[in-house]
Amino acid sequence: MHELSGKAAIVTGASRGIGAATAAELASVGTSVILAARSESNIRHNAQMIRDNGGQAEAVTCDVSNYKDVQALISHCESTFGRMDILVNNAGVIEPIGHLATSDPAVWSEATDINFKGVYHGIRAALPLMQSQQSGTIVNVGSGAAYSALEGWSHYCAAKAAAAMLTKCAHKEAAASGVRVVGMSPGTVATEMQVLIKASGINPVSQLDPSDHIAPEWPAKAIVWLCTSAAAEYAGEEIALRDADIRQKIGLTD
Ligand code: NAP
Repeated sequence: MHELSGKAAIVTGASRGIGAATAAELASVGTSVILAARSESNIRHNAQMIRDNGGQAEAVTCDVSNYKDVQALISHCESTFGRMDILVNNAGVIEPIGHLATSDPAVWSEATDINFKGVYHGIRAALPLMQSQQSGTIVNVGSGAAYSALEGWSHYCAAKAAAAMLTKCAHKEAAASGVRVVGMSPGTVATEMQVLIKASGINPVSQLDPSDHIAPEWPAKAIVWLCTSAAAEYAGEEIALRDADIRQKIGLTD
């Protein structure tokens, strides 16, 4: 039996892409999963697919930029499963892509409310429950953009850098109570986000060929691995899937 069998997890941004693949991967090892995103019909569909394959899954609509939504999401997990073992803070947006000088302050802020504050909201809402359980894992989905400035992506680079620091801060405060907080930078992944990036034509990432991207199942497998005891040494860090050693440890081969 897999060590995550019988655990309860929440995956944000589970309506498509990496989040949908992660929810399916967690369910495949016996974890009960709550799929969260704004698009209700998509998460309902994905949850039904998991149940059709014998897994346990529920869909809960949630905008991670709204703290009340995130609180309600965590409460739903606790009341449904009696606990919460895993939170995957995966929801994210790349738009608006454009230059700082012409950016719309309101729209720019909305993006950071999702990419940065959404991660804070998840940590803030989940930590008290996990600390009372003396166990739990929070995985924050990061990006190489946290460490490398890219034209047109100012909100994204800044928010991912801030979220990476939040991983370290949360680890400092949570590790002593048995809670693991870890980041995962996937590299480029074949999802709708990369379709938007390609269409923008801005910066070298938009010039990549779709065949350069990895499948969403790879970061999904990495996230599941990060929640196991095999990855305990990475608590407080952000692992990168571009790292060949990490790929080998997870068992991801080209
Ligand atoms: P995607 O296919 O565009 O999916 C993004 C997900 O986030 C969707 O499920 C979307 O659902 C959800 N989302 C967006 N805003 C939300 C909000 N306010 N509240 C709740 N959910 C929200 O992109 P992806 O590639 O899978 O991205 C997943 C994560 O990986 C993101 O954090 C992204 O930054 C990161 N990442 C991706 C790549 C890549 O190359 N694809 C590279 C590095 C990092 P709704 O629209 O239904 O809410």
